[in-house]
Amino acid sequence: MAATLITGGTVYTADAQESVHERGAVLIVEDKVAAVGPAAQVEQTAAALPAPVRSRLRTVDASRMMVLPGFVNAHWHEMFAMGFTMRGALRPASDRADQAAFMAGGGDMHQISQTFDRFDPLIEAMTPDEAQAIAEYSMWIQLRGGVTTLGDMGSLNRPLSMVAAARRLGLRFSASTWASDAVCPPDGSRHLRTRDTDTVLAGFESLLGAVASDTTGRIRCRPNISYVTNMTDELARGMADLVVRHDLPFATHVGALRNEVEAMRTYYSESGLRRLEEAGLVDGRLMAGHAAFLDEHEQKLMLSARAHISHSPGKYGPSGESSLTETGVVPALRRAGLDVSLSTDAAALPGAGMAETMRAAWQMYNEMSADPTDVLPTDALAMSTRIAAKGLRWDDSVGSLEPGKQADLLLVRTDDWRYLLNPRPLESFLWLAGSADVDTVVVGGRTLVTGGRGVEVDEAALRDRYLEALRGFTTRALRVPAEAVDAVLGRVAR
Ligand SMILES: [Zn+2]
Repeated sequence: MAATLITGGTVYTADAQESVHERGAVLIVEDKVAAVGPAAQVEQTAAALPAPVRSRLRTVDASRMMVLPGFVNAHWHEMFAMGFTMRGALRPASDRADQAAFMAGGGDMHQISQTFDRFDPLIEAMTPDEAQAIAEYSMWIQLRGGVTTLGDMGSLNRPLSMVAAARRLGLRFSASTWASDAVCPPDGSRHLRTRDTDTVLAGFESLLGAVASDTTGRIRCRPNISYVTNMTDELARGMADLVVRHDLPFATHVGALRNEVEAMRTYYSESGLRRLEEAGLVDGRLMAGHAAFLDEHEQKLMLSARAHISHSPGKYGPSGESSLTETGVVPALRRAGLDVSLSTDAAALPGAGMAETMRAAWQMYNEMSADPTDVLPTDALAMSTRIAAKGLRWDDSVGSLEPGKQADLLLVRTDDWRYLLNPRPLESFLWLAGSADVDTVVVGGRTLVTGGRGVEVDEAALRDRYLEALRGFTTRALRVPAEAVDAVLGRVAR
C-alpha cells in the first residue's frame, strides 16, 4: 500500500465547516484521504500506520504551499475543435473591429439555436483519432489548471473519444452526449423538429452501456439537453424517464439569456424552466446552467425542488452575457439557500479556468451586494469543490479533503511576493494568482501534474497532436482553406 504525507502547508478542506488548518497536513493511503488536520496530529496518525506501509511512506514538505481539494468543473464543453472558426485563430490580431454578436446583447436566439443544432454532423465528421487528440489537449488544460473532476454538459466531440482521453490523462470525467432535436427558425413561428427524439435518447443510453464496464471509478455519465431552445416536449419527457430509470443527475442550459424568455414563448408557448417542470425535470437531479433569467414563480420552483445552479462568471463579460448583474437572480437564490456552484463553461480557445472563475465570483458577488462577506474566499472554494461535486452527484467520494474521500488535491506555491505577510493564502491566490500557478495535481492519490508539468503526459506532445488533428478537421469538415490554416500554424511553429 502506497502512502503519502503532505505536511506543513495551509490546508483548505472545503468540508461543511470550511475548516482551514494553518500548519496542516493530509495523509493519503492508496487512493484515499486517511487523515487531515493540524500537522502534528496527522503526523502522529502517519507514525501509527502499520510498519510495511510506514516503511514506504513518502513525505512532501508543503511548508511553502497551500493545499486545496481538486476543483470540480461540472459545466464544461469540449469545444477546441472550433479553435479556428469560433472566435478563434482566424481572427485578426487587432480587436478594434469586434462586434457584439451571438450570446451578446441578450442573445441572438435563432443563431444560437441553429448553431447548436449543427453540432451532430460536425461530430460525425470528426475521426475518433482526431476527436481523442483534441479532447486530450482540451482536458489537459483543465487538469493543468487544477480540475480533477470534469463534467461535460454537451460537447462538439465524440463521447467515447472524450472518455478515452480522460482515462489517458487520469482525471475524473462525467461523460455526456450532445442532445438537440429542434431549432427556432428565423421566421418566428413554431419550433422545427430536426431529428428523431428516440435516436437522440438512444445515443446517451449507448454511451451509458459503453462506460458501464469502467473499472477505474473515474468515469460516470450524466445526460444533458443542449439548450431548452433545442428541446421538443418529447425530448424533455424522454429524458425525464431516462434519468429516473438509471438514477442519474441531469443538466441543461436554462434561463441563460435575456432573449430566451420571449423566444421560448414564441416557439414553444412556455418558458424553458416551466417546460422542464412540466416534463418532471425540475428536481434534486437538475443542474441548471446559468439560470439567471427566471421569474418569481420559476425561482420558487428552483428553491422548492432543491435544484442546483452552475454558473460561470469568469466568462460572462468576455462573451457579452449579463447573467449575473442584470437580474441578480443567481446571488439571490444562493442567499435563499439554493446550491450554487462555479464552473468555467467553455469556448474554442482557453478561457477563464476555475481559479479565474473563483476570482470573478468573489469580486462580482461582493460588489453587487456591497458586502465583502457575501462570498468569502472559502465560499468561492466551496462553490468550486464541495458544492459542485454535490450538483454532479459525485460528493460521495470527491469535493472536499475529508477522511474516506478520494485523495484529489492541489498544491500551490505560496512563497513569493504575492503571499508575503498574508495569513490567508487563498485570498492572495484570488487576488493575484490563477490557473497557471497550480503546481501539483493529485487524483485518487496519483500525482498527475508536478511543477506545472505532466507526470505521465508531455504537454508539447499533446499540443502537437492537437494541432495536427485540428488542421485535419478544420480543412476537411469546416472547409477552411489549408493555406489559411497553415499560415496560422506556421506562426505557432515559430
Ligand atoms: Zn455551457
